[in-house]
Amino acid sequence: MRVAIIGAGPSGLVCALALERRGIKPDIFERGRRVGFTVPRVDILLQLFQRPQRDQLRYLFDHFGFKIKPLAKIRRYIIHSLPHNVSIKGDLGYLMERGQSRDAVETQLARQLRSKIKFNIHAGYRALASEYDYVVVAEGNHLAAKDLKIWETAITAWVKGAIVLGRFDTEAAAVYFNMDYAKHGFGSIIPFSRERALLALHVPYIDHSELTLCWNKFMEQENFRPEIIETFELHHTGGFTARQQVDNILLAGASGGFTDSFLGLGLFEGILSGALAGKAIAEGLNYEQLVSHLTRQVKRRFAFREALNSMDNTGLDRLIRAITLPGIKQAIYNTNIDILGLLYPYVMQYVRAKNSRPDDRLKI
Ligand SMILES: Cc1cc2nc3c(=O)[nH]c(=O)nc-3n(C[C@H](O)[C@H](O)[C@H](O)COP(=O)(O)OP(=O)(O)OC[C@H]3O[C@@H](n4cnc5c(N)ncnc54)[C@H](O)[C@@H]3O)c2cc1C
Repeated sequence: MRVAIIGAGPSGLVCALALERRGIKPDIFERGRRVGFTVPRVDILLQLFQRPQRDQLRYLFDHFGFKIKPLAKIRRYIIHSLPHNVSIKGDLGYLMERGQSRDAVETQLARQLRSKIKFNIHAGYRALASEYDYVVVAEGNHLAAKDLKIWETAITAWVKGAIVLGRFDTEAAAVYFNMDYAKHGFGSIIPFSRERALLALHVPYIDHSELTLCWNKFMEQENFRPEIIETFELHHTGGFTARQQVDNILLAGASGGFTDSFLGLGLFEGILSGALAGKAIAEGLNYEQLVSHLTRQVKRRFAFREALNSMDNTGLDRLIRAITLPGIKQAIYNTNIDILGLLYPYVMQYVRAKNSRPDDRLKI
């Protein structure tokens, strides 16, 4: 069987590994000169978002045999809102290095691969679909789904990031909600090491011309004066695909709409969807059925995005403070309860009450 994979990001690489383990050697096309983004980054895997799974990396190893080493565990997550801060402690998930370093997720996965990656090729899915039995689109963007007319945009955002020097707790990540500079998005600090961190600001629904002003306000209001080594800006489009397979074309990772519209998380879902695409192709299974739980999860998180969109700083602060209430705090720290799943109906009720016209995309 001939399979082409477009994109050597986490979802494409994992798909290739899943195929190889089932005796199929795919052709992998990557437009870059090597795997990984040129600007390094740290992604977070939040356990709270994947419940009832206890440990995402253990899950990937136990179910698919993928061994991925994290940069660190997250033991403290600090949520800043106006005027309160909430600190959550426990085994909260992982920090995952991204980029081109030895320990970046994509480098680790590429090392486990036997097939050769064809670099410097900007592949087109239509041409490959007539040449191969299957094409897996894992390009990290929505362009193929849009072209196939199965894409619906839920959020667009500008992201500005900076690699900064300072003193950081390697097991703590922080998020900043403040509509003055982030609108309905957020700022974050995620450490690479004790001395180096990623400072980022995600601002939805703005023009690029507004980004610098938002960034300057972020730095000023949070009193950040770090030494900046490198900066980047990128535009992100998040949303849904009505389907995840069209004929012999399977969409995985961000290309399949598996990055959520709430906080833009999608590394774990991308990896899972890539693994399931490989499994579906090799074992003749229905890909859309295999990923239906992921699609549901992403849609569920869109309801949280809708709720966030309708809040102001006061409402947001009230919600964040609710996390410290005894019952809820206990559930976050000491149980494996799917809190987002439990909250979902209430969030839906809230969104319906706020929006006179319910959003059909929220139906799951
Ligand atoms: C700034 C930012 C911060 C994020 N933070 C987090 C986080 O903290 N936690 C989290 O879970 N998720 C996070 N995400 C989302 C997460 O990064 C994505 O969900 C994940 O990278 C998706 O993996 P992927 O393999 O689908 O795509 P990518 O990682 O984007 O990989 C796609 C690959 O395809 C290649 N490619 C593209 N087009 C072509 C083509 N035509 N031909 C050949 N090659 C091509 C690209 O060069 C790239 O190597 C973040 C995203 C962004 C943008």
